[in-house]
Amino acid sequence: MNFELDQTELAVIDSVEHVAREVIAPRAKHYDETETFCAESLQALAELGCMGVNLPEHYGGLGIGSLAMSRVVEAVAGACASTASALTAHFLATDSILIGGTEAQKQEWLPRAASGELLGAFALTEPAAGSNPADMRCRAQREEGGWRLHGSKHYITNAREAGFIVLYAKTDAEAGHKGISAFVIPQGTAGISFSSPEKTMGLRGSTIYELALDCWLPESALLGTEGQGFNTAMAVLDRGRVEVAAMSLGIANAAMQCSLDWVRERQIGPKPLAAYQGTQWRLAEMYAQLEGARMLTWKAAVRRDSGGRFSLDSATAKLVAAESAGFITDAALQLHGGYGYIRDLPLERYVRDARILRIFEGTSEVQKIIISRGLLEAR
Ligand SMILES: Cc1cc2nc3c(=O)[nH]c(=O)nc-3n(C[C@H](O)[C@H](O)[C@H](O)COP(=O)(O)OP(=O)(O)OC[C@H]3O[C@@H](n4cnc5c(N)ncnc54)[C@H](O)[C@@H]3O)c2cc1C
Repeated sequence: MNFELDQTELAVIDSVEHVAREVIAPRAKHYDETETFCAESLQALAELGCMGVNLPEHYGGLGIGSLAMSRVVEAVAGACASTASALTAHFLATDSILIGGTEAQKQEWLPRAASGELLGAFALTEPAAGSNPADMRCRAQREEGGWRLHGSKHYITNAREAGFIVLYAKTDAEAGHKGISAFVIPQGTAGISFSSPEKTMGLRGSTIYELALDCWLPESALLGTEGQGFNTAMAVLDRGRVEVAAMSLGIANAAMQCSLDWVRERQIGPKPLAAYQGTQWRLAEMYAQLEGARMLTWKAAVRRDSGGRFSLDSATAKLVAAESAGFITDAALQLHGGYGYIRDLPLERYVRDARILRIFEGTSEVQKIIISRGLLEAR
């Protein structure tokens, strides 16, 4: 498998790493402590063209491969996981249009999303339907000239800040997952109300909301064709899981680098913490998990561009990378002792931010279901 990147991709990664270090990382603590939406960091990424890093050039995107895209997400997450979460939620929205939209819808929405003019949100989860979206209750019924949407969604990242929301609803309540369709809802549509931002454990510079809907949409708001929404959402999540895996690498690598600096500096009795074998073994375990997760993430990224099915690869990468990020951030905090627990250092933030990686875009348990299904179907 080829993990080489071309000169354009390397230049994009280089410029994102620079902005992540100089602009995004210095704001991360402020966003976390004040629970402020990470608007300036997203703006800095928009100036690099990165709001369209997942899109082809003819829709205003950067047109780089998924491996390079995953390196961009890793760099952003290592600096500020909240910014990476807002960014990748935007990718779920634009990928929905890229995969499920008509050519006219792609032309209408994607260039403005890629430039950063419009932020996107992806609304699938409902209070009664998370791991099993086929149970969703949100309804869209045909009316003269359009659709009436009724129901609620919750935990929707970027929803209030977004210029458009891609929302999934049942157009045929009797048809199970085949009765789900997707809609593009512009900001300012009458009949949608938003909760206050939820109070979350981590990713406090990113926002999630509950939405209550009783709104009318024109016919043109239907994304692609009726009944195609579930397949679109599943294809989008296959792609998104590579991004969550890349986020996991970013947070885990940041915690790993802090740990390497710390154990060299910290004196315990006559010698540095790094000189104790217990420390060395812990570092080796952290590194082995990080590199294993990296290889699976890169493999899934390459498979994402190959045109074939890659659900098994993306679910495996997401499972292993998210679980590894949990292990590595916790181990890093432990190596820092009491200092790790104090909010002056970013260790406790890494632990809080990493926890969601095992939950959103399909919990670890859901990834195991996808993996085992893929294995059993292949026989
Ligand atoms: C910070 C944050 C951001 C989010 N952003 C978005 C967003 O932008 N858009 C969006 O649509 N959603 C979003 N979500 C929702 C997220 O994707 C869901 O929370 C997640 O998919 C899990 O669904 P649930 O919370 O309903 O858990 P449930 O489905 O109720 O699961 C509860 C537990 O049951 C387990 N479980 C479920 N089914 C099985 C099974 N078959 N076998 C064994 N165990 C099982 C789960 O693994 C979990 O441990 C976000 C959530 C959070 C917290």
